Amino acid sequence: MSVPFADLRLQYQSIKDEIDGAIAAVIRDSAFIRGPYVDAFEREFAAAASVKHCVSCANGTDALYLAMTALKVKSGDEVITAAHSWISTSAMITHAGAQVVFCDTDGETFTIDPAAVEAAITPRTVGIIPVHLYGHPADMDAIMSIARKRGLWVLEDCAQAHLARYKNQPVGTFGVAATFSFYPGKNLGAMGDAGAVVTNDAILAEHIAKLARHGGLVKHQHHIEGINSRLDGLQAAILSAKLPHLADWTKARHNAAKFYDAALDKMEQVQTPKVAPGRTHVYHLYTIRHRKRDALAKHLNLLGIETAINYPTALPLLPSYRRLEHRPEQFPNAYADQNTILSLPLFAEISREQQDEVVTAIRSFEHVV
Ligand SMILES: *Cc1c(COP(=O)(O)O)cnc(C)c1O
Repeated sequence: MSVPFADLRLQYQSIKDEIDGAIAAVIRDSAFIRGPYVDAFEREFAAAASVKHCVSCANGTDALYLAMTALKVKSGDEVITAAHSWISTSAMITHAGAQVVFCDTDGETFTIDPAAVEAAITPRTVGIIPVHLYGHPADMDAIMSIARKRGLWVLEDCAQAHLARYKNQPVGTFGVAATFSFYPGKNLGAMGDAGAVVTNDAILAEHIAKLARHGGLVKHQHHIEGINSRLDGLQAAILSAKLPHLADWTKARHNAAKFYDAALDKMEQVQTPKVAPGRTHVYHLYTIRHRKRDALAKHLNLLGIETAINYPTALPLLPSYRRLEHRPEQFPNAYADQNTILSLPLFAEISREQQDEVVTAIRSFEHVV
C-alpha cells in the first residue's frame, strides 16, 4: 500500500525510546497485574479526561459492560443507543441484562438524533448511550436535557473520542459515566487491548473497580461477584508513555482533516464530514459520503490507497438483531450511510504527499464516473 489506512509503526518509531523504556521498567519491576504503572495511568488519564475517577479494565467493550452492570440494569429495562456504531455498544446492553433500543442518527453528524431518542422512550427506559462516533461529539445539550426531564442515566461511549469537546466541555463529563477504549488503532492506543470507565461518582467508581477485579479491591475480600477485566501493567506503562503526546497527535489529525476538507469540498460527488457548531471533532476517522462508494473504494484500492467502511451494516440490520425484526425504513439515515460511507487514510503522522495522493486519486475517479 502506498497510503495505508493507519501506520502504527510510524507512531512507535517517533517515540521508540519512551515506549521501550516503559516496557523495560515494568518487566524489571515484575509489575504485570495492578501495581504502580496501572495506578499511575489511572491518575493521569483521569486528569486528561477532566474527571475524578478512572477505572481501568481490559478493553472498551468490558468498560461498557462494567458500567451498565454497576448502574444495575435489569431484565426488562430498556437502554437507548445509536443505530450506527461498533457492535460493542449494543451487545453490552444485552449482556448487562437489558433490552437494546436503537435510534437513528441525525443525517449530518453520524451521531444519535435527540428527537429519535425522545420518541423511543417508554416507561421501561432506564438510560441512553450516545456514541461520539468517529470523534464527533453527539448533541449533549439535547441528550442531557431529555435525560434530566425523564430521569434517565447517560453513559457516553467515548471509544473514538479522546479529547473531543462539546461547547468546550470534554466528552465523557456529561453523563454519569463514560467508557473509553485504548485498542491499538484508537486515538490513544495500547499495544494490545485496554479500556477504562471514567466518572465523577466515587461510589460508582468503586463498584465498577470491584466488578472488574473479582468483586473486591483487596485480595480474598469478595464483596460481590465480579469478573476479571484488568488493564495489565505493560499496557498501562505504554499508555502513560503515549498520553503526553495525545494533544499533539490530535492537532495533527485535525490539520490533516482540514487539508482533506479543503481539497475534497470542491468535488461535487464527495460529501466531507460535517462538524456541528460548538463541537471539537478529534477525527478518529475521516469518513466521507459518496454515492458510488464501492466503485470509489475499488478505484482507490487499485491505486494503493487503503480505505475502510465503518461500518458496513447499521446495527439493527445485523443478523445478531434479527430477533428485533427491524427494517431499513426505521433507520433511514443510518441505512443510507451504510451504503455511502468511506473512511480515508488519516493518522497523526500522515504526510502531505500521502494526502495529496489520496486527493488526486479521488479526483481521477470523479473524472471517470
Ligand atoms: C472500539 C470501540 C468499542 C470497543 O472497544 P474495544 O476496546 O475494542 O473493546 C466500543 N465502542 C465503540 C464506539 C468503539 O469504537
